[in-house]
Amino acid sequence: MASIFVFAEINEGSISDISLQGLAAARKIAGADRVVAFAAGSGISTVVQSLFGCGADEVVVVDDAKLNEYLTSTYRAAVGAFLAQNKFSLLLFPASTCGNDLAPAIAAELDAACVLDGAALSVEGGKTIVSRIEFDRKVRTCYVATGDRPMVATLKDGIAEVGAPDASKQGAVKLFAVSLPEPKTKIVRRDVAKKSVNLKAAKIIVGAGAGIGSKDNFAKIQELANVLGAQIGATRAIVDAGWLPADHQIGQTGVTVRPELYIACGVSGAVQHWVGISDARKIISINTDKNAPLMKHAHYRVTGDLNVVVPKLVKVLKG
Ligand SMILES: Cc1cc2nc3c(=O)[nH]c(=O)nc-3n(C[C@H](O)[C@H](O)[C@H](O)COP(=O)(O)OP(=O)(O)OC[C@H]3O[C@@H](n4cnc5c(N)ncnc54)[C@H](O)[C@@H]3O)c2cc1C
Repeated sequence: MASIFVFAEINEGSISDISLQGLAAARKIAGADRVVAFAAGSGISTVVQSLFGCGADEVVVVDDAKLNEYLTSTYRAAVGAFLAQNKFSLLLFPASTCGNDLAPAIAAELDAACVLDGAALSVEGGKTIVSRIEFDRKVRTCYVATGDRPMVATLKDGIAEVGAPDASKQGAVKLFAVSLPEPKTKIVRRDVAKKSVNLKAAKIIVGAGAGIGSKDNFAKIQELANVLGAQIGATRAIVDAGWLPADHQIGQTGVTVRPELYIACGVSGAVQHWVGISDARKIISINTDKNAPLMKHAHYRVTGDLNVVVPKLVKVLKG
């Protein structure tokens, strides 16, 4: 029977959401194949229990304090040692900084096929197909491993929905012992940007674009957000101008969001922003230019000056 390996990344003591999405995606295509979740770190046996309820048939942990921080050499040694003894036809990693670093190293070790940033997984004729969205979302390319090679892939955020773990599914976490080398690098300092907003969890987002014109005009955007109980997101233009901290940025180099409602105020809808909002359930675009790209994508469009439209909207919403 073939097996699927899923690397579960631990971030600050929790399994990352993108890894859980990878596990859900693996479960969907697994059929009768076993899904083995693998995690590394020290004292994580309790945290990884939930992997059983999220689709894993087996959960394996390498418990070693050397794995508390992601470093290529130690993780490569831990995962490599496990894979030297256990064969898989498909190996999935999150398309995170860690996953996109580790997966090619593992693929090279296994002489396996490797596809990064997969956006969909499917099976055709018994072969796993990993699809990537390429060239500014204009092309979808599907990859399959040749011959008998295993496929190694990293999967992007949004690959699958993660439901609540099924608490009835429990199991015994297996410890895999490996003697790890001394790390080849060490982290001397890590400066973590303070989180000022959690856009991923937001139901309503008011998006601020360069069309707001000046930092002073933020008061109007803020008022709209307040009356709707919304969070404020931004284009890169706004973040680059220093008007909002970087964690407000939505898009290719920011976060991907899936709110019920996204109200874009003075946002042109450049592809690098669009990739971050395209999964919003409803999009309203307020723009003076009826030909702006987002005015074509949006479900509802208001052609007009946001300095006029936004205060009117606030007035109506306040009753
Ligand atoms: C490698 C790379 C990565 C990038 N990553 C990101 C990313 O993650 N996120 C991101 O957002 N961008 C990103 N960008 C930048 C992106 O290409 C655009 O430049 C950016 O999204 C434009 O932001 P904007 O819509 O605020 O500004 P603009 O494109 O300048 O649009 C402003 C809009 O406001 C409208 N407007 C003007 N005045 C008013 C008014 N009074 N009322 C209503 N509407 C008005 C205009 O008609 C226009 O459509 C990236 C670029 C590169 C090259």
